[in-house]
Amino acid sequence: MTSFGNWEFTCDLARTCAAYAQVKHGSSENCDCNGCRNFVRVRDTAFPDKFLRLLENLGIDPQKDGEIFHCAQLSPGRHSYGGWFHFVGTLEKTGDFAPIELGEGFIAWLCHSSAPALSRLKGLPLVQVEFNAENIPWLLNEPEPQ
Ligand SMILES: [Zn+2]
Repeated sequence: MTSFGNWEFTCDLARTCAAYAQVKHGSSENCDCNGCRNFVRVRDTAFPDKFLRLLENLGIDPQKDGEIFHCAQLSPGRHSYGGWFHFVGTLEKTGDFAPIELGEGFIAWLCHSSAPALSRLKGLPLVQVEFNAENIPWLLNEPEPQ
């Protein structure tokens, strides 16, 4: 059993890694909206180290999100995004726990899988890793969404 904050879970690392290896792109890469296209541009610097280490320990490829969505423009050039990833495993202890801060303006939490998963993960027992990021820059040469 592994824990993340108050959450406790099991993770099938081998099956998670195998599934991610068979997926070509995350959902953000398959979406044409400007919110997703901007995220793909900033993705390599969008996640704090602690979140990248968490994903790595779970066998998740950080480039292959289950979904990313633009929430709001917080100020010119600064945007809030949310999104999630999945890993193969079971959530043994969950509840209305406070999200964990993994970087400045970046929080993550676990929950039972409820949102669309990547094709290769469908049908497997999944746990959902959700995040909210508040310091995402706008790099597209296009008007910023509000
Ligand atoms: Zn999109």
